[in-house]
Amino acid sequence: MNYVIVDRGDPLSKQLAEQFHTLAAANGIHRNEEAPEIIISIGGDGTLLQAFHTYCDRIEDVAFIGVHTGHLGFYADWKADELEELVQMIAGQEPRIVRYPLAQIELETKEGTSTHLALNEFTIKGVDNTLVAQININDELFEMFRGDGIVVSTPSGSTAYNKSLGGALIHPSIESLQIAEIASINNRVYRTLGSSVVLPQHHHCDIISRKEQRLQLACDHLNMTRSDIIAIRCRVSEHKVSFARYRPFTFWNRVREAFLGYDVQ
Ligand code: NAP
Ligand code: MN
Repeated sequence: MNYVIVDRGDPLSKQLAEQFHTLAAANGIHRNEEAPEIIISIGGDGTLLQAFHTYCDRIEDVAFIGVHTGHLGFYADWKADELEELVQMIAGQEPRIVRYPLAQIELETKEGTSTHLALNEFTIKGVDNTLVAQININDELFEMFRGDGIVVSTPSGSTAYNKSLGGALIHPSIESLQIAEIASINNRVYRTLGSSVVLPQHHHCDIISRKEQRLQLACDHLNMTRSDIIAIRCRVSEHKVSFARYRPFTFWNRVREAFLGYDVQ
């Protein structure tokens, strides 16, 4: 078994990474930066997003494991004092592989189309003023949006930015994308639905922004400012992200622990 560690960079995460390397070497688990099968993220959910984007082009060949060094994470479910147990399990048993849907974002410009993946969400905002955009669903006009921005989230990202916007929490077994609004302006010209919309796996949406607008785009934590975008197509990716699970910790238990604070028995 080959592994690599991505850590948050703080002293505790770095120390845990060193501890993991020592334990792994003693248990016949090999450190391999080029061709890992397991990617261990030590830090928070943000660290796992970073790990995901680092190994995005090998997404079908890797499985992620998250160790949290802060509060419980959605992607990080092992505690700092459980490293030994985790290494024993990696060395001794086959994990259950849990696969979550991803969002595919196609950015169309005059020069061509670039494709990006998001684990949490894709975000679009205006840079200089409010965002003005037409939203099409399956190539038909759905609404004219004017406001701060639009967030298109995956099911596992539904507990992140999407939740702050009043979007629903979607179980990651439901292959879908959710479109949520950030502060839409509603009047006779610009009228949006107001509630968030969940698209199934075989649907797509296009966001066509008014020309000459500078846009702030983000795939998860990765931001870019662009002024060359003609249209953006969002759909459920044909790829999924894999997590290696050695013990059960269901999505609804994570939700309960993170947001309601009740302990899981
Ligand atoms: P950050 O500002 O540290 O992240 C914001 C918070 O979101 C952190 O507490 C992070 O957990 C948590 N988080 C990340 N993914 C999550 C998920 N799938 N479910 C529940 N909580 C999640 O920035 P970051 O760590 O680089 O994370 C980037 C993410 O921040 C974006 O993908 C977006 O979802 C989120 N965000 C949220 C808002 C908002 O709610 N108003 C605004 C901008 C961005 P950790 O502390 O464990 O990293
Ligand atoms: Mn963070």
